[in-house]
Amino acid sequence: MDFRVGNGYDVHQLAEGLPLVLGGVKIPHTKGCVAHSDGDVLIHALCDALLGALSLGDIGQHFPDTSDDYKGIDSKILLARVVEMIRDRGWSVVNVDVTLLAQKPKIAPFVPRMRQALADVMGLSVDRVSVKATTTERLGFVGREEGVAAYATCLLTTIDRI
Ligand code: MG
Repeated sequence: MDFRVGNGYDVHQLAEGLPLVLGGVKIPHTKGCVAHSDGDVLIHALCDALLGALSLGDIGQHFPDTSDDYKGIDSKILLARVVEMIRDRGWSVVNVDVTLLAQKPKIAPFVPRMRQALADVMGLSVDRVSVKATTTERLGFVGREEGVAAYATCLLTTIDRI
């Protein structure tokens, strides 16, 4: 029996008129993330946590933003591929915990849908998928609504039935 923890962090710049997708959910807002993919900062941090737990590098190595394959891609596809890499190596996800930093819009109403979307992609029960959100009290680039950021933590195990 073995366990591994991983952590991930990501930031995306916000710009007017772009779609905002966070945690696999499209969120109505005047700004969205500047990105090569759909800019889902929450999923990107989560992918890095999962990859980090097994020392598999980072999301940029596996899905380079120089490749047309990933232009505008739904980040849920990237998450599904990362989870597949983990399972192929004989590991299972025990739980994940993500904190999103965004000044606007209010994230709380979308959290249940984000948890369900992430749980569906990862093949986990929703009680193993935590999504939290905070503002930064108007401080820093998040507070000025110039960008959004996310931190993610995960636990993996080799135990089959968790
Ligand atoms: Mg990113």
